[in-house]
Amino acid sequence: MVVAPKVYAQNEAIFTLELPFAVTCTLWRQRFEPVTLATGPRVTVISGLHGDELDGGYICYRLAQFLQNLPPGWALRGSVDLLPNANPLGTNIGQRFLGFNTSDLNRTFPGNSQGSSEEHLAAAIFAEALQAEVCIDIHSSNEFLIEIPQVRVVDKPHLCNLAQELGLDLVWTHSSHNWIGGTLAKALYERQVHTLVVELGAGHRLHQTWSERVVQGILHLWVRLGVLQVQATLPILPASRVADENNVFYLNAPRAGLLVLESGVKAGMTIESGQKLGQIINPTALTQIAIYAPVDGFLFTLRVHPLVYEGSLIARVVRG
Ligand SMILES: [Zn+2]
Repeated sequence: MVVAPKVYAQNEAIFTLELPFAVTCTLWRQRFEPVTLATGPRVTVISGLHGDELDGGYICYRLAQFLQNLPPGWALRGSVDLLPNANPLGTNIGQRFLGFNTSDLNRTFPGNSQGSSEEHLAAAIFAEALQAEVCIDIHSSNEFLIEIPQVRVVDKPHLCNLAQELGLDLVWTHSSHNWIGGTLAKALYERQVHTLVVELGAGHRLHQTWSERVVQGILHLWVRLGVLQVQATLPILPASRVADENNVFYLNAPRAGLLVLESGVKAGMTIESGQKLGQIINPTALTQIAIYAPVDGFLFTLRVHPLVYEGSLIARVVRG
């Protein structure tokens, strides 16, 4: 017996940038729709705006697997677009920025289809994202820091509520005027597209366990939005901690050297004010300075690259 597919899937090249010598930079979109007429909203997931951030590509792959092989009791009601890599050349050569120049793609939005190569690429991505009712923009940190799974949103109640549906460790809110200009999230916010910026892990790495949590969180959100329907009762996810512009403490290196963390110090732990987190040593001057937790709280960002300069970010802690 031939089983009819539950989902119509299409993998399409939606934009191609010509590079000088026989190489092209192609933007791929995977679209999933019900075989019958969609009754739910369209949602989009974009990852890889920074070419060195790899978790989002894995998350998109896992979401695509799920949609192509829906378990019994699940149905797709809305439409899903996945852009697993928005900066293909950067990723292919292991670089954060565009590869053909040093522009940050996530400072180029909304882009310009008549403009430079990076503006043209940004405009193509933006046009896709504009079709969504809810857009998720997945980032990892850079190669210097690791971030526990979190979501960053403009501090509007409806966006905070959507962010909580992901069930991640932290929801970090920012006022719209403090959101960095040129980012996809800022440009989409100005066009009234609900946007959730997910952060997890570190650049050039793949954090499989945390990525799986994000996959489950996105599926949970999609059920709440009516994109997916499931006959079973969804598990109740724990409430995320909430960080804002007033309860996050930045711990910066007081001097240059090598950061040596105390055994057991890791991102995602609760810490107490005065707890020793590590030390910065200088192997040539033979000096060291201890690093202590500045407040009681939850360590959600931690440096993983040991080389520090005066002022380098070591950790971020949300108080409480
Ligand atoms: Zn990023």
